[in-house]
Amino acid sequence: MLNDEKSLNFIEEIIEEDIRNEKHAGKVLTRFPPEPNGYLHIGHAKSIVLNFGLAQKYNGRTNLRFDDTNPVTEETEYVESIKNDIKWLGFRWAEELYTSDYFETLYAFAVKLIEKGLAYVDDSSSEEIAAFKGTPTEPGKPTPYRDRSVAENLRLFAEMRDGKYPDGDKVLRAKIDLASPNMHLRDPLLYRIKHAHHHRTGNKWRIYPMYDFAHGQSDSIENITHSICTLEFVPHRPLYDWLIDQLEIFPSKQYEFARLNLNYTVMSKRKLLQLVNEKYVDGWDDPRMPTISGLRRRGYTPASIRNFCERIGVAKRENIIDVGLLEFCIREDLNQTAWRRMAVLDPVKLVITNYPAGQTETLTGENNPEAEGGEGERSIPFSSELWIEREDFMENPPKKFFRLAPGLMVRLKHAYIIKCEDVVKDAAGNITEIHCTYLPESKSGEDTSGIKVKGTIHWVSVPHAKTVEVRLYDRLFNVENPAAETDFKSTINPDSLQIIKNAYAEPDLLHAVPGKGYQFIRKGYFTLDSKTTTADKLVFNRTVTLRDTWAKELRKE
Ligand code: ATP
Ligand code: MG
Repeated sequence: MLNDEKSLNFIEEIIEEDIRNEKHAGKVLTRFPPEPNGYLHIGHAKSIVLNFGLAQKYNGRTNLRFDDTNPVTEETEYVESIKNDIKWLGFRWAEELYTSDYFETLYAFAVKLIEKGLAYVDDSSSEEIAAFKGTPTEPGKPTPYRDRSVAENLRLFAEMRDGKYPDGDKVLRAKIDLASPNMHLRDPLLYRIKHAHHHRTGNKWRIYPMYDFAHGQSDSIENITHSICTLEFVPHRPLYDWLIDQLEIFPSKQYEFARLNLNYTVMSKRKLLQLVNEKYVDGWDDPRMPTISGLRRRGYTPASIRNFCERIGVAKRENIIDVGLLEFCIREDLNQTAWRRMAVLDPVKLVITNYPAGQTETLTGENNPEAEGGEGERSIPFSSELWIEREDFMENPPKKFFRLAPGLMVRLKHAYIIKCEDVVKDAAGNITEIHCTYLPESKSGEDTSGIKVKGTIHWVSVPHAKTVEVRLYDRLFNVENPAAETDFKSTINPDSLQIIKNAYAEPDLLHAVPGKGYQFIRKGYFTLDSKTTTADKLVFNRTVTLRDTWAKELRKE
């Protein structure tokens, strides 16, 4: 459903109500809290557009907070890529913050809970803790450590910090309610021991806060007014509120929306990391990945991604969005902005027998017929020998084949009408040349031939053609929901990448710039591959086909 300008989503309703009530003096402060353990994906884009978008709409601010409480999986490379992707999407954060900067404050918060008799050090193993927790239908039981004195808890917690105990030896738990129907309130873990190097704090800490302890407290430290997260955190909300209440700190509030799920891909960073590590793809920015960097390399524009996120809206119930909608959004954008060019991906030679051999003339074509003034035009060299697509010729065509066949006429885009006279074959019967004649008076723009033809085909002049590499992409997975499979990697589409080493492009494509979209007429939207293009070899990625070929396939079924 389109997000109607007038109707507010449920988070906007909450914010407007808060502003009316002058809650937090009418201020709105949101945050985007990525864990730097992977690259951002299109699901994160939804959260970014929502958090930054709300702040923009209500004159507020958005913090970028790296949720870096897990020293083992986090890296500086991820921090840099995340910042880069957010900026590329067109957003600017108010402050760049790190949960690890709050480790000292969080430690003090934990001490305060111990002092209030609301937290204790538990020596049980994780298996024992799980066993004592009970089940959703049976209450939990206290472990033998639950009633330790405040003094003992304070001493043990300090010793945990000092590194006296090995990993897993002890944990700090909140003392809440072992009979709560909400499992998250059955004395949740607050801290664990981890002797590990942290990407920012080095070896300073031997204990690290758990997500539930760090997240809400960080929100509160920053005075976040609306802490927006995905639905799986609904059952964590009572704990979020409990911790803030007991610590008597800034009353941040958590609100949950449905995460973005997209078909024919996976979105969990853990799975994406496997694809990278096991070399199913060429890095996090492989154009088949649902990552922001992959989409960028594929030729998606920031506007198309923002549009997509706005179109899908903010829901309270999980759903799966068709990747066709994302493709629709980039097509819509590129149709308006891409420069038109000609390139032949599967070439066969066409010779114009009545055009003087060796002669060249310069034709022109608008860069962008969708834009006013066409955004200028480029020169296109023409000669007697052209490359055309093999599929644009048929020796024995069916009815209504409006391309080339013996005796048939077509227009060469931006050039002349030609008529197919003859074909030349090699000994094996393969067509090597198509011989045509042209109508000199049929030049595009000054056509006096009086002849109307139904088909127009693209072409590239043989002596002027530039050899480029073209990469065509298809869905990375063969099934709609790979994450639901026992082995998601078994559903990888083996034909998701087709490389054409020798495609022929019109010479102006030598000036192609990274980040710009080009429509290869009749072949789709393409962009220069910023990673593998060299001065000697241009590589183009197909962003998307011109029409939704999958929708067509479906209609056929
Ligand atoms: P993953 O499960 O892919 O590892 P995550 O939720 O662990 O993702 P974080 O780095 O913790 O990743 O996410 C940062 C923010 O982005 C969080 O607020 C999270 O709710 C949000 N987010 C992550 N995935 C999605 C998604 N698919 N749709 C909407 N928001 C998402
Ligand atoms: Mg997470």
